[in-house]
Amino acid sequence: MTGPVLGETIVELSGVNKRFDGAVTANNLSLSIEQGEFFTLLGPSGSGKSTVLRMIAGLERPDSGRITIAGKDVTHVPPWRRNLGMMFQSYAIFPHMTAAQNVGYGLKVRGWPAEKIASRTAEMLELVGLSSHGGKNATLLSGGEQQRVALARALAPQPAVLLLDEPLSALDEKIRRTMQSELKRIHGMTQTTFIYVTHDQEEALTMSDRIAVLNHGVCAECDEPERLYRRPRTRFVAGFFRGCN
Ligand code: ADP
Ligand code: MG
Repeated sequence: MTGPVLGETIVELSGVNKRFDGAVTANNLSLSIEQGEFFTLLGPSGSGKSTVLRMIAGLERPDSGRITIAGKDVTHVPPWRRNLGMMFQSYAIFPHMTAAQNVGYGLKVRGWPAEKIASRTAEMLELVGLSSHGGKNATLLSGGEQQRVALARALAPQPAVLLLDEPLSALDEKIRRTMQSELKRIHGMTQTTFIYVTHDQEEALTMSDRIAVLNHGVCAECDEPERLYRRPRTRFVAGFFRGCN
């Protein structure tokens, strides 16, 4: 079997619709995300970013439309069969485990042998700069360190795609900046496709290869940061970057 190729479409949404009692969170939404991209869903609060990410994850089901991952229709495939990693704002790491046990957890669940878990865990802790913290109880780590553990845990099983929902928004400014460049570095090293949700335009502009700007479940524009920022084609995107909506 050959792996996915850089530049090929890895995640595709076609005509996806989703509403919750009247609130439209995806309105005929079509997106095409390429293998290896740092792709960002940007938009104001309530624009549907998290719902779109959760539909890609399989945690919400579209009312209609289709989602494919690596060419396979996954619209009705459960989350654990989608080969995705996830990272959220709240660290969601297991407090009764060490950092290393957290990172190895998903591998254990997948039935990896103990020695492979140990070597992969060490490799992941090194990747996120926590080599000397593996034996520490997770609750003794700082917020930034806990997010590094969450990242290492999500990447350990080598998912095809990593989904990140505002993973830095609970961190204070200085640590957030550090973690932004850490995420970029790790994205470059792993070449995993990152699908990143944020409402922070500056974060989106500095980190992304491409950005889809969402407005009430509609993709207002999707393009490279530079183009979106300098030459927005819609009033909504122009206004969003000026801080008007
Ligand atoms: P964002 O992440 O951009 O802030 P969300 O996807 O969380 O937006 O929400 C979009 C809209 O859908 C909001 O109006 C929100 O209240 C609504 N919504 C999201 N999830 C649910 C749910 N499980 N039940 C009802 N309404 C929801
Ligand atoms: Mg959200």
